[in-house]
Amino acid sequence: MPEHIKSIRGMRDLLPDDSGQWQHLETLIKQVMHNYGYGEIRTPLLEKTALFSRSIGDVTDIVEKEMYTFDDRNGESLSLRPENTAGVVRAAIQNGLINQQIQRLWYSGPMFRYERPQKGRYRQFHQAGAEVFGIEGPAIEAELMLLSARLWDQLGIGSAVTLELNTLGSPEDRARYRSVLIDYFSEHTKQLDEDSQRRLHANPLRILDSKNPDMQSLIEGAPKLINTISAESKAHFDELKNILEQNQLSYVVNPRLVRGLDYYCHTVFEWTTNQLGAQGTICAGGRYDDLIEQLGGQASSAVGFAMGIERLLALTETVNGPQTKQPADIYMVLAGGETLSTGLQLAEQLRNAFPDKQIITDCSGNSMKSQFKKADKSGAYYACILGANEVTEGTVSIKSLRVEAEQVTIKQDELAHQLALLFNSTSI
Ligand code: ATP
Ligand code: MG
Repeated sequence: MPEHIKSIRGMRDLLPDDSGQWQHLETLIKQVMHNYGYGEIRTPLLEKTALFSRSIGDVTDIVEKEMYTFDDRNGESLSLRPENTAGVVRAAIQNGLINQQIQRLWYSGPMFRYERPQKGRYRQFHQAGAEVFGIEGPAIEAELMLLSARLWDQLGIGSAVTLELNTLGSPEDRARYRSVLIDYFSEHTKQLDEDSQRRLHANPLRILDSKNPDMQSLIEGAPKLINTISAESKAHFDELKNILEQNQLSYVVNPRLVRGLDYYCHTVFEWTTNQLGAQGTICAGGRYDDLIEQLGGQASSAVGFAMGIERLLALTETVNGPQTKQPADIYMVLAGGETLSTGLQLAEQLRNAFPDKQIITDCSGNSMKSQFKKADKSGAYYACILGANEVTEGTVSIKSLRVEAEQVTIKQDELAHQLALLFNSTSI
């Protein structure tokens, strides 16, 4: 036998047993985005590499070591998107969505990062996110947090997540803080690990984000940005906290939250949980007012977030237990021969009569016994049976699979009517 070619490490198949939960989550996301007036945008999975290096930043984990980058046949460097803010901004500029306009956009789809695969961390994973252009104040940041909180409640995970907030200040504040940090860490270069030494001048804020236990006390001692930002930036952050409090949305301020990407300013936030082990961030975002101009568009404020679908589903299952698959409604048991054709016709009529119901036709021609086993397993309420007798007599039998009830045999053209009565009486 030839060797079986397997999928790429960290890239998973979604199988029917699990796809119901994905569809459910996707439906809720679509609904909540609609509730808040966000329009869906779909952009290509592949973009020019320069888009990501210019937006996310050259000295970030993503661009330094996580992108799937290759030259196409023309020698142009392309990358599979590691996230979608850059792509959405590019598309908005290119399609004239920015010019002084307010845009509320959302997206959902696969992202690609070359990371070490583990629980909650994959090489192809999925994000849904929102991006808003053209609104300056903190109210829109609060809206994004309220929107996500609404989704968590609908998923039943509201009490398992925490909203963490921080401010990075204005780009000027951030630049000033940058040099304060460089001074501080330069005095302690011996305590810096290799990654942090490399980042010291390129991206010192990222040092705060380090998970290395040996660096924690050094990081704890670092000057806090909140103590150096301008009064205006502080007012922005205070107003945000105020709006959240008035909306009864609890949060904690985490001064070490800096986010890994270069483009953030002012508010950054993450939704975290302690129920998923190390991969505890389910959603992350912030304000990125300079990015649009940086990518060649007309300057416009911008804010957004992205949630990790795999982690959200894992958390939903941890909190609510495994979801059961939706059962079938009707299972057609067919003796074989000419019952197959009649069975298919009857099933079509039932689908016309009950567009929401799931009707499974057993086309296997297997023994009645094995078909009844399958019918039971499908979870169907009723089996409709066509044996040789029924076909000659133009009848069909209905057997209840869930409750004790006598099997009834009726004329085939009464089947839909009879089932409607049964569905009504059992209120399914
Ligand atoms: P982490 O610190 O866990 O690596 P990140 O800061 O790289 O996360 P973002 O770029 O902010 O993540 O992406 C937003 C969300 O997407 C994350 O909070 C997470 O839920 C999800 N996510 C990111 N990378 C992965 C991955 N490799 N596999 C699965 N989900 C991911
Ligand atoms: Mg990461």
